[in-house]
Amino acid sequence: MNSVINPATEEVIAEFPMADVAEAEAAIDRSKKAQREWASLSLNERRDGMLAIAAVVDANLEELARLESSDVGKPISDARGEVAMVANCFRYYAGVVDKILGETIPVDGGVDMTFREPMGVVAVISPWNFPLPIASWNIAPALAAGNSVIVKPADITTLSTRRFGELVATLNLPANLVQVICGPGRVVGRVLTSHPGVAKVSFTGSTATGQDVMRSAADTMKRITLELGGKSANVVFADADLDLAIKSAPGAVFGNTGQDCCARSRILVERKAFDDFVSGFVAATESLKIGDPADPETHLGPLVSRDHHSKVSSFITDDAVLAGQAPDGPGFWMAPRVVVDPDLTSRVVTDEIFGPIAAIIPFDSEEEAIRLANDTIYGLSGSIWTTDLGRAFRVARAMESGTLSVNSNSSVRLQTPFGGFKQSGFGRELGLEAINGYTELKNVFINTQA
Ligand code: NAD
Repeated sequence: MNSVINPATEEVIAEFPMADVAEAEAAIDRSKKAQREWASLSLNERRDGMLAIAAVVDANLEELARLESSDVGKPISDARGEVAMVANCFRYYAGVVDKILGETIPVDGGVDMTFREPMGVVAVISPWNFPLPIASWNIAPALAAGNSVIVKPADITTLSTRRFGELVATLNLPANLVQVICGPGRVVGRVLTSHPGVAKVSFTGSTATGQDVMRSAADTMKRITLELGGKSANVVFADADLDLAIKSAPGAVFGNTGQDCCARSRILVERKAFDDFVSGFVAATESLKIGDPADPETHLGPLVSRDHHSKVSSFITDDAVLAGQAPDGPGFWMAPRVVVDPDLTSRVVTDEIFGPIAAIIPFDSEEEAIRLANDTIYGLSGSIWTTDLGRAFRVARAMESGTLSVNSNSSVRLQTPFGGFKQSGFGRELGLEAINGYTELKNVFINTQA
């Protein structure tokens, strides 16, 4: 039996049995049949099916948001925004169903064209920090391209994805088109990453598990997309609109209590602006409200679990400045901390913490900023703050990162590709680019000389 714990109260809020190997295998068999049925529907039927998923998410937004908030400890206002994004994600990809284009290629002796064919059964393995949004970023393009989907949410945060699966099952879609299967990653996840009936695995999670997924998928040559960890840099030049950069920076590292793969946890600040930035950043962080996730005014909830709380606690050092006050009593609470000018080899600078701890590091030149920003095994996201347009482009092109923003700390838009360089993974989610990850490219040559 799996017990679901509310991280803000430590109370058990749900219990359900976990799936085993046999159930995962049966789900794969059912999914194959559903895929054939789905791919044979007309384009309009597939589009309308996806619009129906968007509509059922919208109609149940409040319930899904409350489940996500109580399961993850996420502030309810964030959870509402995320569920609204899930519905928009299905609407966006509903519009893509009849725009998956091939090419005609000039060749001698005939006509040559490409087609993007569905892959078959897609397994979506999702993490606990943004359970339903991240699942939807993969489910929606997979469906748009004519695949069926099996989703395995993280063991500790299953509620929103399970409910989503129940809601989709009420719609007039092929049976088992989207199945949600809850079970331990090492058991059920492994079945999905190794079974010959699964064509593609979209994995979002830690780099260590991503490596295991790659190894497990190798025997059957599965297609894989890996969205992994990050240690993103927020690079602030002295010529930036400093007020704006300071106002935006705490949310960019402490949002979701730091449990964000795009967290700008290394803040690089030009020395001329360093002291002003640090004092402004600490003051802005102190104004964040930490507390009951069900309160719409709350900015930061607890960490997701006791285990994760102890992992993040291991990064707390004596020189960390406390910026805020966590509630007493039950719950896995942690107030934000700021480490100023740390040793560049310390864990707080090199490791993905996935909690509310930020390192602020000074630099003296553009070259040094680029070198520091790239001095990591990761390359997921990052920001550049400057009013010099030439510098913005130079630094953006030089940073080894898949998803950058200038004078902004945003990372995710439904319309634009999202994913990492280096050990942050490969493949891209979202935008039209995601469709390439859910289709096989087929080339057909027609001899016109025969
Ligand atoms: P995790 O790697 O522990 O688990 C992710 C998923 O994989 C879960 O569903 C888990 O049950 C499953 N799993 C575990 N072992 C498995 C195995 N051997 N085979 C198959 N599946 C297995 O990650 P997490 O702790 O849930 O999430 C936090 C991590 O996710 C962080 O490193 C974070 O950076 C990363 N993340 C990345 C992105 C991104 O888009 N790049 C987004 C969110 C989170």
